[in-house]
Amino acid sequence: SVTIDGLHKSYGSLDVLKGISLDVAPGEVVCLIGPSGSGKSTLLRCVNLLETPQKGVIRVGDVEVTDPDVDIDAVRRRVGMVFQQFNLFPNMSVLSNLTIAQRKVLGRSDAEAKKVALHNLERVGLSDKADNAPGQLSGGQQQRVAIARSLSMDPELMLFDEPTSALDPETVGDVLAIMRDLAREGMTMLVVTHEMSFARDVADRVAFMDGGVVVEEGPAQEVIGAPQHERTKTFLSRVL
Ligand code: ATP
Ligand code: MG
Repeated sequence: SVTIDGLHKSYGSLDVLKGISLDVAPGEVVCLIGPSGSGKSTLLRCVNLLETPQKGVIRVGDVEVTDPDVDIDAVRRRVGMVFQQFNLFPNMSVLSNLTIAQRKVLGRSDAEAKKVALHNLERVGLSDKADNAPGQLSGGQQQRVAIARSLSMDPELMLFDEPTSALDPETVGDVLAIMRDLAREGMTMLVVTHEMSFARDVADRVAFMDGGVVVEEGPAQEVIGAPQHERTKTFLSRVL
């Protein structure tokens, strides 16, 4: 689970997050939608400490991420993150991309790391690509590898930041299908996305952010199907 309470983040005089409160319960999928610059990526980046917020509390499970004495590595072990850019190591095989952090961060043996990696490659339908270089894969396949890499760390929470927006249209569906499977399997997920049909079908709840605040939040059908706030309506009329 993740609990975010009263989160503030600014860069110099620019207030980007102005008191965000948002929860994701264990096994729940929350989609975060909103216009460019509203602070969605910044919010995700605060959850795994790629950014340090000035104010507010974030908890992942029983760990207080915003505690100044927190073990940053322990937070990152619990939280998987998948970005728009897949950030795979280009000079390593797909398999090595999946085993390196397991060995270095979790201290797993070669054999154990490989077993976990192959299991997760199978989950994303790419067992046959273990020995390929990432550059030999399509964008959608690389993103599935990135997801398998995150899963190999056994995260208790997965963050996705527009995982399909850099992909060719024909590969988007494969990545969304994998995220849908993960959701069904009970993974706790916080997903920034522009894919409104995914949000409507898969998310338990949707939060609409604008100008550094959560303007509206609720069941996916309600926020997307019957938005209450003017800003949400305007945003949805542009993207639907
Ligand atoms: P998009 O949909 O375009 O990805 P977003 O909702 O993810 O937008 P953020 O990337 O969180 O928006 O950015 C929110 C605001 O914070 C923007 O005005 C951005 O310019 C600013 N910002 C983000 N990172 C930094 C930084 N490292 N330094 C200064 N300003 C930043
Ligand atoms: Mg963003």
